[in-house]
Amino acid sequence: MTLDIPFDNSYARLPDRFYARQSPAPVRAPALIQLNDRLAEELGLDPSALRSGTGIAMLAGNHVPEHAAPLAQAYAGHQFGGFVPQLGDGRAILLGEIIAQDGQRRDIQLKGAGRTPFSRMGDGRAWLGPVLREYIVSEAMHALGIPTTRALAAVTTGEDVYRQSRLPGAVLTRVAASHIRVGTFQYFAVRNDTKALEDLTAHVIARHYPEAQGALDLLRAVITAQARLVAQWMGVGFIHGVMNTDNMSVAGETIDYGPCAFMDGYHPDTVFSSIDAHGRYAFARQADIAAWNLAQLASCLLPLIDEDQDRAIGRATEALHAFPEIFKAAWLDVFRPKIGLTTREDGDAELIHRLLDMMAARRADFTNTFRGLADGTVQDALTGVAAFDDWSAAWQARLQREPNAPEDSSALMRSANPAVIPRNHRIEEAIEAGLTGDFGPFRRLLDILQTPFDDPAPQLAYRDPPAPGQEVMQTFCGT
Ligand code: AMP
Ligand code: MG
Repeated sequence: MTLDIPFDNSYARLPDRFYARQSPAPVRAPALIQLNDRLAEELGLDPSALRSGTGIAMLAGNHVPEHAAPLAQAYAGHQFGGFVPQLGDGRAILLGEIIAQDGQRRDIQLKGAGRTPFSRMGDGRAWLGPVLREYIVSEAMHALGIPTTRALAAVTTGEDVYRQSRLPGAVLTRVAASHIRVGTFQYFAVRNDTKALEDLTAHVIARHYPEAQGALDLLRAVITAQARLVAQWMGVGFIHGVMNTDNMSVAGETIDYGPCAFMDGYHPDTVFSSIDAHGRYAFARQADIAAWNLAQLASCLLPLIDEDQDRAIGRATEALHAFPEIFKAAWLDVFRPKIGLTTREDGDAELIHRLLDMMAARRADFTNTFRGLADGTVQDALTGVAAFDDWSAAWQARLQREPNAPEDSSALMRSANPAVIPRNHRIEEAIEAGLTGDFGPFRRLLDILQTPFDDPAPQLAYRDPPAPGQEVMQTFCGT
């Protein structure tokens, strides 16, 4: 079995100061946990070659295939509002890019592949928990139809890593449209490296927004992509958890799954991340934070937008001011079908907010409440609640004004309201079992999440919120 990967590495052709050339550090005993056959095929890679000894060696960082150009990308970033001029890939190594079957360029990156010049105090490694978590959640996001990086494979390394305790090491192979972040622009802006900003802008336009004519257009395109992305997160109750500018992809994909989580009981102030003490990245703040991050991108692009600084600021500000409207429209595009609407009326946003407010007051399960609308079932938290009955009557009256037959509205709602999401307690269960070498629960969860809009067999109970004692109150970066 030969492993022949048709790399075409455009990032590695950018100037030296964009990255540090760095090969992965070999590990003791690579073993495959999971290979994403379908994604491999979409990438034009042979799954059986990836499963071979050489393939697994590549996925663990022990074998650098021909034509790869391994490197760690340089970037900066605002972390919780504080600017760090140099972050960079401290535990991830880009092997290279390939053109997938759909003609789109994709990065192949190993996360947990060893130290790089950007590792600072870190060991460059990842432990099994975050690798399984990212695999599950990123593939679930994809199945939910939300732009995201993907997981091609997970391997164990046969080595321990040390966090609060000794834990098994693992490597995730991540696939992305690119790994270029708002922080990548900030890295060059803070160095006043206008030439690099020009090169980066040209690269990002060619790669992600070929229709954009220059930096201002690029800014507008990223604003639109991020507004839509956050609206889609809101539609499934997803909290990213660390929306630092270094964790925001300019391609508009969800990236860097750390202490992320899907809510069970709904409340807009929900925070899971153990390091987010002030709720900066709480569920309902995500649009504002995206706008804040985009303002940082705008400020990096100013010298490219217009040589007259005042004019550049005027244009960038105008582009940023469009964010709330774009977000609001995207949010309605996401939520209207969730309550079965195909047409637009002025009162729709209010109708949806009334439902959400009631859900918040009673911490009704986000996923099951919306799915219940399609199935005609009401969550316990809302049963017998007069305000909910009033809302239902208003909603039914609104549905009457839809051209769709009732069964079509139900079908629409079933296609917009998943039956299953990666609930925290299920992810924890998969990780706990994985730590004992049993990847059965991980695989079962992954399998169920492939078709999130289908009802899983009732005995599987994947739709159930956590029972008392199963709730996960906090999630950790802990990588
Ligand atoms: P993140 O938590 O993914 O946003 O990472 C923030 C920064 O810390 C990035 O520059 C990472 O590369 C770096 N980092 C996180 N974990 C490690 C690690 N185990 N070793 C080296 N660098 C790390
Ligand atoms: Mg990150």
